[in-house]
Amino acid sequence: MRILVQKFGGTSVRNLECMQQVERKVLHALDEGYKVITVLSAMSGETDRLLELARQWSRRPDPAEKDVLVATGEQVSVALFTMLLKDRGLKARSVLGFQAAITTDDAYCKARIHEIDTDRLLEMLEAHDVLVVAGFQGCDPDRRITTLGRGGSDTSAVALAAAVKAERCDIYTDVDGVYTTDPNICSKARKMKKISYDVMLEFAGMGAKVLQIRSVEFAKKFNVPVQVRSTFTDGPGTLVTKEDDTMEAVMVSGIAYDKDQCRITVRQVPDRPGIAAAIFTPLAAAKILVDMIIQNASLDGKTDMTFTICRGDLDQTLEILEGVKAELGAGEVLYDTQVCKVSAIGVGMRNHSGVAAKMFTTLKKENINILMISTSEIKITCLIEEKYTELAVRTLHDVFELAAGQ
Ligand code: ADP
Ligand code: ASP
Ligand code: MG
Repeated sequence: MRILVQKFGGTSVRNLECMQQVERKVLHALDEGYKVITVLSAMSGETDRLLELARQWSRRPDPAEKDVLVATGEQVSVALFTMLLKDRGLKARSVLGFQAAITTDDAYCKARIHEIDTDRLLEMLEAHDVLVVAGFQGCDPDRRITTLGRGGSDTSAVALAAAVKAERCDIYTDVDGVYTTDPNICSKARKMKKISYDVMLEFAGMGAKVLQIRSVEFAKKFNVPVQVRSTFTDGPGTLVTKEDDTMEAVMVSGIAYDKDQCRITVRQVPDRPGIAAAIFTPLAAAKILVDMIIQNASLDGKTDMTFTICRGDLDQTLEILEGVKAELGAGEVLYDTQVCKVSAIGVGMRNHSGVAAKMFTTLKKENINILMISTSEIKITCLIEEKYTELAVRTLHDVFELAAGQ
């Protein structure tokens, strides 16, 4: 049985006309002799609408109930789309996360997939042409509904592809591939034919939301070829695959940005062993991801600890830090949500010096202040004020000569 997994994002299923385009892609795959697993997102805007409802109903919505609520978005898409396929006389059925036995941990709102019942899926696939699976959702060992974090349908699709050993996982979206930066904010962005799992991991990790980072982790671990392409055109898109010789080790492959950032400073922390652990252990226990961290030089035995988190974790972080502050005798807790992370990414950086200096000089020339810096072997990240995001991305894209034809 040749299996193809196709995933369609929110803009691809936003109305009947778009779903008809999706249908075209499914029919094409069937013509090519595949059994198809179609993974759908909620219609665009629907997940945000449901999250807003939760906010209106509750000051601190219960995470498990929030998952029951937001998972309905995908349920609507799969039911409607399956109706279209059945009207065509195809053997199709909708499959919700729990029906595909997509088992996750119980980290509601950002659950991780642990297991998928492959036998059950293959059995259903024997009896159907197309399985229309709800993305983004699973269930925990207690059989409660979980969701996989924003953009999680990408991960559902790649995990399913790995489980059933699909030939490929096609991620259909509103752009026709992975670009050197977000084509929606930089008109000079260039589409890449191929990108390695490692570079894609950095792109996704640094905010390029075209693929959720966990989907790339799955793809790399299980060696699933992923093709990012457009629902509305017919090009081949971008192949995400193992690094090979045809991928030049360019110094900088692209620029990513992430506006979903918040900077927190705990002031006047006593500077003694164990302080960082006291601050970050309870955050880790609450599954709050801390990213960039800076500890200032100590003055009179006190120091400031600054770090970044995702904006959605702000309320919970502040609540936890209130307790920590009292316990440590620290000063006030400050936060700033008007910040953005901008990153230059490229495997070629491993063997080149000067990329960081070039990035800092470029930002300085534009009068953009750098609030925090972090580096790894293949990326350099600067936290800047959010209002300078587009300017920073476009100028860095120019300076590193990423545009088409350069
Ligand atoms: P979907 O709803 O189909 O999952 P997303 O909005 O999650 O789509 O992801 C697609 C978007 O990712 C594009 O519209 C684009 O704005 C954004 N994006 C960010 N960085 C990149 C990049 N390097 N290449 C392509 N798209 C990017
Ligand atoms: N509907 C979810 C979201 O908007 C999951 C997804 O689209 O991938 O984040
Ligand atoms: Mg997405």
